[in-house]
Amino acid sequence: MNHAPDPYEGEEIDVIAYALGTNRRIDVLDKGFVTLVDCMPRMVPASRKTADHAVVQAARVSVGAGLKTIEEDIKTLRYMRRHVHTAPSEMVEFKFHCHMPIFVARQFIRHRTANVNEKSGRYSVMADVFHHPSECRAQSAANKQGSNGLINADSASEFLSALNAVESNAYDAYDRAVKAGMAKEQARILLTLNLYTEWYWKIDLHNLLHFLALRCDSHAQEEIRVYADAMLALITPIVPESVRAWNDYHPMRGAMLLTRMEVEAIRSFMGTVSNTYRPSAAPSIDGVDKREVDEWKAKASKLGLGPA
Ligand SMILES: Cc1cc2nc3c(=O)[nH]c(=O)nc-3n(C[C@H](O)[C@H](O)[C@H](O)COP(=O)(O)OP(=O)(O)OC[C@H]3O[C@@H](n4cnc5c(N)ncnc54)[C@H](O)[C@@H]3O)c2cc1C
Repeated sequence: MNHAPDPYEGEEIDVIAYALGTNRRIDVLDKGFVTLVDCMPRMVPASRKTADHAVVQAARVSVGAGLKTIEEDIKTLRYMRRHVHTAPSEMVEFKFHCHMPIFVARQFIRHRTANVNEKSGRYSVMADVFHHPSECRAQSAANKQGSNGLINADSASEFLSALNAVESNAYDAYDRAVKAGMAKEQARILLTLNLYTEWYWKIDLHNLLHFLALRCDSHAQEEIRVYADAMLALITPIVPESVRAWNDYHPMRGAMLLTRMEVEAIRSFMGTVSNTYRPSAAPSIDGVDKREVDEWKAKASKLGLGPA
């Protein structure tokens, strides 16, 4: 029986140490942080230097093959991402330690594919660490769940004073209740949403890229976006080719998804410019392999942008 060849020949290196050195923590907001605690694979072949190879390695087992040259492996990785063949990227995992306000954690927790272990407010006394915004944004008129610009300085100062008063009253009452012997699991209901919590959060690369597409996007709330941006900065040197392909092909990154009606509009526009017009060649695209160029020619032909 044929097995995929073992690529781990010779020396291996610690990919986190190689990619990030000791800079594994990024501070965000006023008191928050994201630390990359660990990843899988952690030890990678010295010749590869990134964890991208684990995606290709898993994919090739389908055909009883192993790694090829780095260039061939990158083409395969990009092909898989273009064609949403995502299961192999679940072979790479990241574990983060995050310190964030509870209202940000509420948004994080909607991403059900991560594994979470959070600080227990039943077991521990919550520390009086509260988030204070550095600026006060104004409600967006165009987007009911978004913000746009800043409120005026007087309103901002009134809001920040109110926040200080509310949280210190809340924490004093919590502290008194705990000291009086009340169960921490009930006493904590006095605390406010800007209190910091912390957790370990583990997720595979496929689901992390889904999370990052949604939460690095300009529609995401800024306070979660800074955590997503920090995670992206931490993983990029570890899986650079996966991130590059995601940036090239994901509709919420550099790519675009056209609806059937939009495709029809382009076809119809190309036909009405001149009924007989058909370009003799599709517009060229850069930085990609032959298979990707062929796929583009087929798309261009369908849109009327290249020969039939
Ligand atoms: C800008 C923005 C605004 C938002 N506003 C709101 C809001 O107003 N109210 C609100 O409640 N939420 C809101 N959300 C949260 C949003 O609806 C999703 O719950 C969140 O983004 C998680 O997305 P997900 O389910 O795709 O991710 P995950 O839970 O990580 O799941 C990843 C993928 O796995 C699959 N999956 C996971 N679990 C299941 C399941 N049980 N059944 C089927 N498929 C599953 C799905 O394909 C899913 O896309 C908002 C999110 C964003 C980014």
